[in-house]
This record gives sequence, structure tokens and C-alpha cells, in this order.
Amino acid sequence: MPTSVVTGGAGFLGSHLCDHLLEQGHQVICVDNLDTGSLENIAHLRDDAFRFVNQDVVEPIHLDGPVDFVFHLAALASPVDYLRAPLASLKVGSYGTHNALGLAKYKRARFLISSTSEVYGDPQVHPQPETYWGNVNPIGPRGVYDEAKRYAEALTMTYHTQQGVDTRIARIFNTYGPRMRRNDGRASVQFLNQAIGGKPLTVYGDGSQTRSLCYVDDLIRGLYALMSSDEHLPVNIGNPDHEVTMLELAQTVIRITGSTSEIVFEALPIDDPQIRRPDITRAREILGWAPEIDLEEGLGRWLKALGREPAKA
Ligand code: UDP
Repeated sequence: MPTSVVTGGAGFLGSHLCDHLLEQGHQVICVDNLDTGSLENIAHLRDDAFRFVNQDVVEPIHLDGPVDFVFHLAALASPVDYLRAPLASLKVGSYGTHNALGLAKYKRARFLISSTSEVYGDPQVHPQPETYWGNVNPIGPRGVYDEAKRYAEALTMTYHTQQGVDTRIARIFNTYGPRMRRNDGRASVQFLNQAIGGKPLTVYGDGSQTRSLCYVDDLIRGLYALMSSDEHLPVNIGNPDHEVTMLELAQTVIRITGSTSEIVFEALPIDDPQIRRPDITRAREILGWAPEIDLEEGLGRWLKALGREPAKA
């Protein structure tokens, strides 16, 4: 039975990854400080193969016993969170990644970092291949997340080339689905909750900015496939088929929830990327992975997980 550590394992993606690893027969150690993660996300994991460690990865991570895989997902992934706690975002990306890599090195475990499409910033190349270096404002408000992840990638690659750690880098694009925190603030969950609650959907700017949305189950399969591969260079994991403007996303959510909410326009945040779509050629070729769940299907599944039926088309 392999043992996997999942940092950020009580969060949105982390908890789904814990489920998947347990299904694959792993022992799972979930390390989380419950800042943005929640015990609710892992309450169903009563398995003997599952252990929860309440710890901030910014502090050194000491765990007993062998570890085969370290999935380092801990981060403040939503703009709302990293703008609330900018120093914590920088620390989890730097010290946190250093500690997670140190754990992997000490245990001779394979390591995967969840990096992000934010390394591309407000991209001037579209769609974004892994070879694109990005367009990031280092001192802007989003820099505390984007640069932390860029540094984390540099650290990961250096542990690979200089310290011989067997590493993987996943660049995750916008993901949605069950267990996103209600007050997470990201567009998908914000719109869904506003629509269900009969409140106006808050589209920022004129809503013409795009994101490409990937359903959580597809994303988790991609992370697992990458960890199982031999690839050390970054690999984009996201869904290129669902690049939508934020206005279209709001309209789709209203339709699928059968809501009567209206759409209101609010100020566009500083440095908000205008476009974003992954080029997943590498993921297709190296991992044999591609997303399978389209946006309407994914939103429908999410609604069902919330105990609601999607509206008929
Ligand atoms: N956004 C929006 N309304 C909201 C929340 C976000 O229009 O209530 C916009 C945001 O300005 C951005 C896009 O939706 O252009 C995606 O934002 P999100 O926070 O989901 O993630 P990001 O991709 O920016 O990290």
C-alpha cells in the first residue's frame, strides 16, 4: 500500500484528491491548517487508511513512517483569500513549498506541486502553452499568489536538478465543483450561490474576460496521471473546450439553476487577466489525459451534490 501525503488535503481540490487516492488503494496523510480548508470536506473519510494532521506547511513537516508520494496542494488559491492574507500567500508558496520538498527529499518520495495558470499572468499568447513565460506584475495585488507559485516552480525544478528529487509540476486552470467554499469568492461558486439564493450575479468589469473551466473530477484524474508519469517539466491541466466570458458563465448558471436573478456589473479587480485557455497538447500526448465533462454537465453534477435538480433546457 503506497502512502501519499496531501498538503491542503482538507481543501476543495485536496479533499477530492484524498478520495481518489484512497480509491486507488493508497494510505493518505492529509496535512492542512484549516485556514481555507475545512473538516467538513474530509468528515466522510473514516477509513483506517486516512490520517489528518492539523498543521501549517509554513512550519517544517515531520511525519513518522515511509512516504511514497507528496502532493503539495496547500495554498490560498482564491483571489479573495490571497488578497486577505498576502503574506501568508507568499509564505505558503515559498517556505511551505520548501518544507514540502524537504519532506519529499527526506522520505525519498515523488513530489507534485499544484502550480497554476496564474504563472501566465495576463497572457499575451493565447491559448497558453507551457513554453510561454507569462506576463505577471510582480508588485501588483495578484503578485503575492502568482510570484509565490512561480518561485515554487523554480524551487521544485531546482530540487529536481540539484537534489535529485523526483518532481512533477501541474499548472492548474480554473476548476469548479462540489466542496468549493461558499464564500470562496471565485466566479463559479459565487455565481452559483447568488443564483440559488435569488441574489444578483456580480459580474466584474463588462464581463468580457474569459476563463476556461474544468470540472473537479477531470482535474483530479489529470493530477494523478501526472504523478504516475515520468514528466518533470510543467504540464497544463485544464479544459480548453470551455473558455467562456464571465458574462456567459453568469448567464449559463442562471439558466441551469432556473434562477430569476439579474446580473449586475461591478468594478474589475486590478490586473485581472483578460483571457485564459490552456493548450493541453502536452497533457494529451504525455499523459493520455483529456477532460471529459462539459460545462453544463459539470454544473448539473454540482447542483445535484447540493441536493438540487438542474433546470430543464
Ligand atoms: N469574477 C466576477 N464576479 C465574481 C467573481 C469573479 O466577474 O463575483 C470574475 C473575476 O474578475 C475574473 C473571473 O471572474 O475575471 C474569474 O475570477 P476567479 O476569482 O474565479 O478566478 P481567477 O481566474 O481570477 O483566479
